[in-house]
Amino acid sequence: MSLPEAISGLRSIVGNDAVLDRPEDLMLYEYDAGVRKSTPGAVVFPQNAQHVSQIMMLASAAGIPVVARGAGTGLSSGAISHAGGIVVAFARMNRILEIDVENLRAVVQPGVVNLQLSEYVSHLGFYYAPDPSSQKACTIGGNVAENSGGPHTLLHGVTVNHVTGVEVVLPSGEIVKFGGKAAESHGYDLTGFFVGSEGTIGIATAITVKLLRKPEAVATLLAIFESVDDAARTVADITAEGITPAALEMLDGWTLRQVEAYCHAGYPLDAGAVLLIELEGLREAVEEEAVAAGKVCLLQKAREVRRARDEEERALLWKGRKTAFAALGRVSPSYYTQDGVVPRSKIPAVLQHIGDVAKKHDLIIGNVFHAGDGNLHPLILFDDRDAAQFERVMAASSSILQYCIDVGGSITGEHGVGLEKRDAMPLLFTEEDLAIMTDLRNAFNGDEVLNPGKMLPAPRMCREITGRSRNAILAQEGL
Ligand SMILES: Cc1cc2nc3c(=O)[nH]c(=O)nc-3n(C[C@H](O)[C@H](O)[C@H](O)COP(=O)(O)OP(=O)(O)OC[C@H]3O[C@@H](n4cnc5c(N)ncnc54)[C@H](O)[C@@H]3O)c2cc1C
Repeated sequence: MSLPEAISGLRSIVGNDAVLDRPEDLMLYEYDAGVRKSTPGAVVFPQNAQHVSQIMMLASAAGIPVVARGAGTGLSSGAISHAGGIVVAFARMNRILEIDVENLRAVVQPGVVNLQLSEYVSHLGFYYAPDPSSQKACTIGGNVAENSGGPHTLLHGVTVNHVTGVEVVLPSGEIVKFGGKAAESHGYDLTGFFVGSEGTIGIATAITVKLLRKPEAVATLLAIFESVDDAARTVADITAEGITPAALEMLDGWTLRQVEAYCHAGYPLDAGAVLLIELEGLREAVEEEAVAAGKVCLLQKAREVRRARDEEERALLWKGRKTAFAALGRVSPSYYTQDGVVPRSKIPAVLQHIGDVAKKHDLIIGNVFHAGDGNLHPLILFDDRDAAQFERVMAASSSILQYCIDVGGSITGEHGVGLEKRDAMPLLFTEEDLAIMTDLRNAFNGDEVLNPGKMLPAPRMCREITGRSRNAILAQEGL
């Protein structure tokens, strides 16, 4: 079946107004928030699981690759289509289907925007805990595919800890259900397997998530430091004191100045770094922990520890953190967001390494990240019209990732592997590990109609990388 025939088949499934194929429309779907581009052949907007099922049957029969798309805020090029492939976009499957207060569950369509769920149940005293910094835009379908985290991951865990069931359309078009409303299900944990599978197993058409009761009390602190190093050392000291903040975020001085100029969050312009620390729970415990966390900061040479006096001040401090990426968009044509992980105690050393890498490659690198999780987000500024500069960005980025691995960390904390980190997978996993993962994917998506080429490297690549010096291959692959 040719692409034009497939497009007319899509129109008969979802209607004329739910398929895009004009070049000027397709351009809008050729990228996500990462740095790669590829133009799809068509974009289709299903309205229910049956539509998705019929689309998958058609695409599988035609052998046309399909990729699901939420809001396109992904940072690992996961939602990028194969050239000429079909994008299944969930903008019209954005309804909250059920709020089940007795069982503390919500059932949502995949296109529901993350923050909208918390806003929807707020008057009942509940919220949905996973809160990526992109939560005003990203969808719960995308969060499930990426197993997304966020500032409050430190206390509440990532998306997989909050999803109990998924309705999934398989590449064959079959509609299956993994899990349900119960906290545990028998047999293999297919829900857990699906969350984080980056759209390579099936397409989620309904998701059952946990709702949490809002905490009785919240304290938000801004600890201000003269140096990045002092702030970095404080992170591990706070948890070593037995305090588990709900969130523990860090911005370096350069980044906080860009943020302050953008949204006036109240960050001091002359600081070397700030920590944003949030504690939540029962009132008395929060008070005690806020005092204890403040003391640790002062012991580690914090110049000052401020506490948000009311909800308005708290929201402003968070606005600064959550719009930091946007703030950098004002000072550079492009930036590359890395997503490495290190053990918390290694944060001072890795920040030092990032500073050295920036100097060596003559680049500006800002740091704003989930410090409590050791989840770094170096933001490397560049101009995408300058190919030589982009090469330096990639070299800097690989050096940072390699450092994370060398100190016992990982290549991604929350943004996923996608295309971006696919060829770095053999740095962490053996050929045998990757073969098992490939077999698992193939049990569901053997023809790779769904999101081909993402997350798992081709076997040849694994053999090459595990068989030879990893550093040599990295250099050769430009990683
Ligand atoms: C400013 C900014 C801040 C960010 N902050 C964070 C953060 O704090 N934490 C974090 O974890 N991430 C963060 N991200 C990354 C991104 O927002 C998340 O990965 C998010 O989950 C992507 O959701 P999306 O709806 O945009 O998905 P998309 O980018 O559209 O898709 C992402 C992946 O999900 C798959 N997918 C989408 N819908 C479905 C579905 N229904 N079924 C199966 N697969 C599907 C796609 O095929 C693709 O592989 C940030 C991004 C930006 C731009």
